[in-house]
Amino acid sequence: MAKRISGKDVAADVKASVAAAVRTLPGQPTLAVVLVGDDPASEVYVRHKVTDTEEVGMRSIKKTLPATATQAEVEALISDLNQDDEVDGILLQLPLPNGLDANQAIECIDPDKDVDGLTEASAGRLVLGKTGLRPCTPTGSVILAKRALGDNLSGKNVVVIGRSILVGKPTALLFLAENCTVTIAHSKTKDLPGLCRTADILVPAVGRPQMVKGDWLKPGAVVIDVGINRIDAPERGEGKTRLVGDADFADCEPVAGHITPVPGGVGPMTRACLLQNTVKAACYRRGWTLPD
Ligand code: NDP
Repeated sequence: MAKRISGKDVAADVKASVAAAVRTLPGQPTLAVVLVGDDPASEVYVRHKVTDTEEVGMRSIKKTLPATATQAEVEALISDLNQDDEVDGILLQLPLPNGLDANQAIECIDPDKDVDGLTEASAGRLVLGKTGLRPCTPTGSVILAKRALGDNLSGKNVVVIGRSILVGKPTALLFLAENCTVTIAHSKTKDLPGLCRTADILVPAVGRPQMVKGDWLKPGAVVIDVGINRIDAPERGEGKTRLVGDADFADCEPVAGHITPVPGGVGPMTRACLLQNTVKAACYRRGWTLPD
């Protein structure tokens, strides 16, 4: 039976180490969170990010714009935050209200403050192996794999299912940077189950509920399930739903060596890695030594 890797526990450890790191810094890193509109889910996410930031001893600034804000107003706000020397990290909460171009707005963020790691410059730095801010969910996935197998992932066969710009590609590149042998699968991949069976570490990042079955796994493989899918749960009552991953947990658990649950796996790591990135951004920008 697989060991469960608790993203909640690992995220708490990351948060504690960020708090310890912040205490050793010569100044206080600052994260600016930009919320456009009044989407209730986005408001909750932003509140969590602000609370997380303050809990680890950093400063947060919340900037809000109404849903009627224009593209120029959003970009002007980002530009002000770019110029504000007190601000180390800028996070633009997505999605933006209809009519606004998120990609164009993201590109306005100074790459040195891009704590979500989403700008083209951050992607370029990742591809080139240069110092930079890496996307949070992929970073969290690598940390979870290390929790299962130890810090040295060198030579491990990794299969990432999904090639999105936000998740699949950066995840593959981060495992490559750990000297893993990485294969990226996608919707045109032939014999996906057979390919998955070659993986020491399997990272489904697809968005298809319970797609990966137990017989897709090499016995003992580590499954880092990035997918988050809401499905009907009539067993919980009429109209009820629940969250599941891209892996069929019950089917995979007896075969895998380690597996992350959904919820409570990769999800919590994304928030923790944002805090880590804010410390990194502050250290790179201000010339502070990055704590271990
Ligand atoms: P996208 O829809 O952008 O990408 C999905 C990828 O899966 C594509 O590359 C697609 O291939 C591939 N795919 C689709 N169907 C199949 C199939 N049948 N077989 C193999 N590959 C397939 O999604 P995202 O990358 O944005 O997100 C993926 C999942 O991760 C979602 O469930 C999302 O909710 C979750 N997520 C979780 C986060 C977290 O914090 N845990 C953060 C962000 C996302 P192709 O390119 O050929 O179309």
